[in-house]
Amino acid sequence: MSREEDIEYIKINGFKKFKPERQSFIDSEGQSWLQCKFCCEFQRVDSIIGYITCGNCVNKIDIIKFPNTIKKQKVSTGRPAGWHWMAEYVDKDGNVFHKGKEQPKLKGTLKPTKVKPMKKKKKLTEDEKLARDLKNWKKRLKQKRGKPNGKKHK
Ligand SMILES: [Zn+2]
Repeated sequence: MSREEDIEYIKINGFKKFKPERQSFIDSEGQSWLQCKFCCEFQRVDSIIGYITCGNCVNKIDIIKFPNTIKKQKVSTGRPAGWHWMAEYVDKDGNVFHKGKEQPKLKGTLKPTKVKPMKKKKKLTEDEKLARDLKNWKKRLKQKRGKPNGKKHK
């Protein structure tokens, strides 16, 4: 069977009914190998009975089966994250928004808001988290000690 025929067959009958002839063997170490149902690459298997689909082909099938799940690139509005929470935001076309509500009367009267790119928060490593917690704990301890509690050391 050629590739095109395979694909046609699958389109008509579905993946489950696709049972092509595939080779299998057991190597000198007792490891079983079976050809991928689709691309014929040999894969390590526990048992040579049945059919297998290699990881590459699983991905490809997902794309064929669910073409709409492929992530579409987000279309940027050019507006910054959280623009509708801003007291006043003016987009590049001069549209004015007060807390996300468009103010048509003000359109074109203000300069577009300049947006600073947000700084990404650095993810802390486990060690850094520990150091931060320790710092906070020491701080709290100091505050506790600083409070007058009546009894003073002589
Ligand atoms: Zn494959």
